[in-house]
Amino acid sequence: MKTHSATEIKFSNGLKIPVELHKVRMVQKLHLKPVEERLAAIEKGGYNTFQLKTPDIFLDMLTDSGTNAMSDKQVSSMLQADDTYAGSQSFSRMEQAVRDVFGKHYVLPAHQGRAAENIISRALISPGTVIPMNYHFTTTKAHMEINGGEVLEIFTDEALKIKSDVPFKGNIDIDKLNGVIEKYGAEKVAFIRMEASTNLIGGQPFSIRNMREVREIADKHNILVVLDASLIGENAWFIKQREEEYHNSTIAEILLTLCSLADIVYFSSRKVSSTRGGGICTNSEELFLKMRELVVLFEGFITYGGMSVREIEAMAIGLYETTDETVIAQSPSFIEYTVNELDRLGVPVVMPSGALGCHLDAMGFLPHVPQEEYPAGALAAALFIISGIRGMERGTISSVRDQQGKDILADVELLRLAFPRRVFTLSQTMFVIDRVHWLYKNSNLVGGLKFTDEPKVLRFFNGRLTPTSDWPQKLVARFREDFGESL
Ligand SMILES: *Cc1c(COP(=O)(O)O)cnc(C)c1O
Repeated sequence: MKTHSATEIKFSNGLKIPVELHKVRMVQKLHLKPVEERLAAIEKGGYNTFQLKTPDIFLDMLTDSGTNAMSDKQVSSMLQADDTYAGSQSFSRMEQAVRDVFGKHYVLPAHQGRAAENIISRALISPGTVIPMNYHFTTTKAHMEINGGEVLEIFTDEALKIKSDVPFKGNIDIDKLNGVIEKYGAEKVAFIRMEASTNLIGGQPFSIRNMREVREIADKHNILVVLDASLIGENAWFIKQREEEYHNSTIAEILLTLCSLADIVYFSSRKVSSTRGGGICTNSEELFLKMRELVVLFEGFITYGGMSVREIEAMAIGLYETTDETVIAQSPSFIEYTVNELDRLGVPVVMPSGALGCHLDAMGFLPHVPQEEYPAGALAAALFIISGIRGMERGTISSVRDQQGKDILADVELLRLAFPRRVFTLSQTMFVIDRVHWLYKNSNLVGGLKFTDEPKVLRFFNGRLTPTSDWPQKLVARFREDFGESL
């Protein structure tokens, strides 16, 4: 597998580190507090990293959603925003950007990715239908199920292997897809959903070859294909790196090819264009009209869709910048560096490295913590306590309970450390590697968690938990032994 990237520049002494191809022109002060204060903060937050507040956090690696650094061009574009309810020129510029970058003529705004999911699910899903996909995303699944649809995940056997050298773990399993259509009948399939850089299984991409096969099956059975393009820039970059046929293609060409294979493309601008907001696009007038009715009902008029026009301007520029390899390769390059270093140190991480973050394998990290005690959530809390690094649990806490009230155990227990685009420096990245490695060496001290307050829907956002023993205090004591008075 080719691993070089636009941000990997050769050093004469053989060092292999990514170099930032941008400079910092605006900064935000960070807070690195004493370990005891962090313990108090996570206790107050119910051992849920979503409940932490910025002053208590050193490196915020919770998510890449709405946290990427904006470019000077994006910020300056906000000044020309055309603040009008209907017919805003800002929207026209965004519409043109979507047409140019994704190659779809009809464009609808939505206030973020999940809003697009609401519109698409309401328009296309009816009770009793199924939606096969390469992997689900939390908000996607919730919207589909609310509308009576059933999510069918038909990933390949390799997808959930933590350590693998398969370049496209995000591929859909073509044989299983054929099996699903045979079992349910094509008329029961609302659409096939492909998610670029599958978020929940480690930011793993799918290949164009796989997408072409999906398209062929869809055409044969007259089924729609919907592409979740929230992380499509990175997926395109991996295609250029890892799919032989496309080594010499530009990112812009790969994006157009990918989108041409879908009937509907939707996206979260919080990721794809480093702003806020989202959108839907298609070349089908019929689908456009069906969804437009819902946009005015749920989002707002079709020239702002719940977004500020300033964000819409920045989104247009951000979409064009997604075709720039030096922009979209930055985060994957830093992730690759982190993943390879941690692997070298023996820490269990999802391999090969993917998009949006470095994913620690919590079951490998904490083999003594049973899944019912949420190893990924415990690891998130422990890492925050000893470092001030905030990651996101992507395991059973992010799952749901069955009809009997038992946890549906997640396929994988991951702690995701997101690398928003162009936000963290290499020394901060080295701090991450060091603290994760230290925690791994002391992982026997980390215990489990249990819920004390559990919301019914998307419980990982607002749920509260408590440790199953006094392990956090023991961890703090060990930290002090090793680091003395240091932060
Ligand atoms: C973040 C994300 C969404 C939801 O987007 P929001 O803007 O956070 O609502 C949907 N799909 C994928 C793959 C995502 O990563």
